Amino acid sequence: MLRHHKLLQFINCYILRDHKIIKEDIWVRCGKIVNPEKIFFDEKISADEKIDCNGFLLAPGFIDLQINGGFGVDFSNEVDKIEEGVRKVAKGILSHGVTSFCPTVVTSPTHVYEEVLPKIRKQQGSREGASILGIHVEGPFINNEKKGAHPSSCIQTLDKGYEKVLNIYGNIENVTIITLAPELTNASPVIADLTAKGITVSLGHSMANLHEGEIAVDHGASFITHLFNAMLPFHHRDPGLVGLLTSDAIPAGKTIYYGIISDGIHTHPAALRIAHRTHPKACSMVEALEAASLHPAQAIGISKNKGTLNYGADADFILIGDRFEILSTWIAGECVFEKKTSCSPDSMLIIK
Ligand code: ZN
Repeated sequence: MLRHHKLLQFINCYILRDHKIIKEDIWVRCGKIVNPEKIFFDEKISADEKIDCNGFLLAPGFIDLQINGGFGVDFSNEVDKIEEGVRKVAKGILSHGVTSFCPTVVTSPTHVYEEVLPKIRKQQGSREGASILGIHVEGPFINNEKKGAHPSSCIQTLDKGYEKVLNIYGNIENVTIITLAPELTNASPVIADLTAKGITVSLGHSMANLHEGEIAVDHGASFITHLFNAMLPFHHRDPGLVGLLTSDAIPAGKTIYYGIISDGIHTHPAALRIAHRTHPKACSMVEALEAASLHPAQAIGISKNKGTLNYGADADFILIGDRFEILSTWIAGECVFEKKTSCSPDSMLIIK
């Protein structure tokens, strides 16, 4: 029997499910998390393979919606070797517990988009690397005054609206997220067109005031790129895009997600706490894990399959040790990374 078709039972583990950490086994078949009760009653079979998790925590794999590069690779400067660069990063992030991601391209000359965007296709992850969820194009429709590290000469206006978007990017088939500045002329209809096509519009590299941010949200924007960075600083009379976190003009039930560079340098820990406390919940392990798995999945509309350990979801998960270290990473039920430790050489004991 192909291993993919085997019924796997992850035993002796705590799992994160329904916002709680509970003691429960995880059952996997054909790359999906399955409901064991249904198998017992309908098929009357038991597991083909048991995997002992040694009492550690099993949580959904991390999802990173903005990776501009890493491991010596910069996606925006690897036009000739973009596929190789993406493969290198996709492989490297497995040891960090990332099971899927959006390679991110910053503001670039038009020929870069034409060459690079068709080459980064959505792809199922494996031992060779994390799943690719589509591209995050950060720019070039941004505000020159908040360009950050983006090259000024490549910044574009939206003077011809959606037509201009297609002219600059070429094919947007592989694009999942677009970061743009909502104060640009024609931004609102462009945001509406992009979101109607299922693309998540994120606001960033922007001088927008709060009202402009609210108009963008009204037209479908649902995300803020690296909150606090490359946008107007919080001001009490007009808090800018940061104010979207607590605006009462956001439609009921709509969540504005944000990415944040929580390295203690780009964002001061106190600013990080301000962002966190606008959505007051307990400060907990569960929240931290969901911020790196469930929430990004929700932000791009894939939480039915990713970011959870619910029945039917993709079997993408990580095993976390006592010191919050990643012990192993799993994609579609296959172990794609395992940390070697001297004290636990058999951390993934397979019981046939
Ligand atoms: Zn940026």
